[in-house]
Amino acid sequence: MMPPVEAPIHPARQPTEQVAWVKADLHLHTDEDPFDEIDYTARQLLDLASTQGFRVLAVTLHDKVFDDPGVFARAAEMGILLIRAAEMRIDGADVVLLNISPEEAAGLRDFDDLRRLRQWRGNSLLTFAPHPFYRLGGSIGARLKDHLDCFDAIEYCHFHIPLLNPNASAVRLAAAHNIPLLATSDAHQRRFFGQNYSWLGLEGGAELTIDNVFASIRARRIRRVSPTGGMARFIGLLFFIFCVHPILMRLPGAKRMEARKRLGAARGGPGEKGRRAAST
Ligand SMILES: [Zn+2]
Repeated sequence: MMPPVEAPIHPARQPTEQVAWVKADLHLHTDEDPFDEIDYTARQLLDLASTQGFRVLAVTLHDKVFDDPGVFARAAEMGILLIRAAEMRIDGADVVLLNISPEEAAGLRDFDDLRRLRQWRGNSLLTFAPHPFYRLGGSIGARLKDHLDCFDAIEYCHFHIPLLNPNASAVRLAAAHNIPLLATSDAHQRRFFGQNYSWLGLEGGAELTIDNVFASIRARRIRRVSPTGGMARFIGLLFFIFCVHPILMRLPGAKRMEARKRLGAARGGPGEKGRRAAST
């Protein structure tokens, strides 16, 4: 059964509701990513997001915490809450961590490390499982059930069409365990940003802070926007993942060299880095 795709709700349309809805995308890549070729920088993302009314963003580079202070300052000037984050591959599985420091991320090798960090940080850290039941990249797959205690939320992945929606398993698992589902774009190209995201409901009068954003997610005040894609978008994504991106990664450049160096790192597990595909 297809999961519900909820329509966006703008605060102005619900004047009596004691919740302020803010537009958020908490899984994004930019050209600062050490592994993938992206056609926009973090600064360009801010401009793009601002024109579309986003108020909360997380740049989730692969295995690297994005922490350029100039970009964070610019986001604050624009009224956008930019959360320090990363998409880390832990024991072969991708995990998105929000409000994490580079030092904390560097210490994560397995799920027990993650459990210790979560215990230490409490509600100030939020983690979710991206694209958990997709075969591309480092999706956690069935192991998610064994590590549910490591996650505050599960992602509702952007990549689905009418007869192919691996999110169905995530929806069932989330419902069974009362875990929030977040829609994100996982954008690797400018044209795929802004179509898949979540509205987060801040309690009336609450400031736009990381604590309040996390509280809204944990309270499941979430309106997912994740329209079922048409064939043109589906083919465009596949073409980018399997044709355009591999070609870009063969071009000479520092990023490719860094990626190659890191590919040799012992990471193990399913979805090994050497087979990492874009858009994950
Ligand atoms: Zn990603």
